[in-house]
Amino acid sequence: MKFPFRIAVPLLAAAAFLAVCATFAVQLFSFRANIERWARRDLSTQAELTAESLREPLATQDFRRLDEIARRLKAKEMILRVRSAQGGWIFHGGYKGGTIEEYVPCGEYRVGVALREGRVMAPFYNALAGFVLAVLVGVLAMGLVFFTLYRQRVRIRELAKLERFRRDFIADFSHELKTPLTGILGAAEMLGEGRLEELIHKEALQLNDLASSMLDLAKLERTDAPLRREAIEVTALFREVVERFADEAAAKGIELVAEIDCPCVHGDRELLFRALSNLVANALRHSGGTRVTLGCEKAKSGVRLVVADNGVGIPAADRARIFERFHRVDAARTTPGTGLGLAIVRQIARLHGGEVAYEPGIPRGSRFLLFDLI
Ligand code: ADP
Repeated sequence: MKFPFRIAVPLLAAAAFLAVCATFAVQLFSFRANIERWARRDLSTQAELTAESLREPLATQDFRRLDEIARRLKAKEMILRVRSAQGGWIFHGGYKGGTIEEYVPCGEYRVGVALREGRVMAPFYNALAGFVLAVLVGVLAMGLVFFTLYRQRVRIRELAKLERFRRDFIADFSHELKTPLTGILGAAEMLGEGRLEELIHKEALQLNDLASSMLDLAKLERTDAPLRREAIEVTALFREVVERFADEAAAKGIELVAEIDCPCVHGDRELLFRALSNLVANALRHSGGTRVTLGCEKAKSGVRLVVADNGVGIPAADRARIFERFHRVDAARTTPGTGLGLAIVRQIARLHGGEVAYEPGIPRGSRFLLFDLI
């Protein structure tokens, strides 16, 4: 399985960052706790002083722990108080190690410890360690991020090259396909009206449609030049589309109507005509409804053109894929079509800085929205 860099790197960086924060928090918390515990501490155990003479080390457990805590907190100074069991100070002053160079006779004592916060060096060392850790983690995470970005750039370049090749290939292939097809079509027409000739003619027409649609889509995808934008009267454009499909609609007994009070949009008239034609042709061919309407809606971000029908609609499972190339609801391909019509509509919408979307009609049918044309 491929290592999921895109997810793993930010996760790793975030985990490392959280770990550093947690380390800081724990260090700080335990430091505070230690200081508070030790700053004003009376060791309750009675210190058995083994000292027989003046300068013997104070070797009890508690005194050794004092050394340890002083080391851990990197305290420059601790203050030690030794009080006899009867009360009264035996010793009160700076503590520098495991011995107290005072005269302490044998007996029972209470020992007090105090720290001066300013002389405790631990936070500085802890912070330094934390800082070094954070820098290391940061550098590592940055390195990983840059490495991933670099890999992605290389991959994107490769993909772009492949995509260019694919588009060129489709365009060239469709072009090459069209020439002999036109010949076959001509020949079939000359052959006459027989059953076989009719079949050849029908299949050649279907192939010809496919090649034309592929060529159109490839051309639209290859367009690098900015779109030719002119002001288009949508009402007039709708009228033209209705005129073009009037006969076909009448022959199928479908009512085809367009709204008459639409605003202007800016774009390529020929392309928008093509997009609307594809949508109307689909509604006439696939919907099985009795009415197809062309309408417009004004939204805050632009104008929305709507082609709606009252037919069968598109099953929910297919809705996400109908704008993909070659996707057809009718998997058995019993209806004529290439599966490229809606892909062309989407490409045209995108060239206009917009999108196309599908909505089921209410109560039935389909609504195709070409939106945010300005
Ligand atoms: P085609 O060349 O097959 O029409 P399209 O990309 O234009 O290709 O459409 C894809 C599929 O979406 C069609 O095959 C059809 O099954 C379905 N379709 C499109 N428009 C409608 C509609 N108005 N009503 C029902 N089905 C539709």
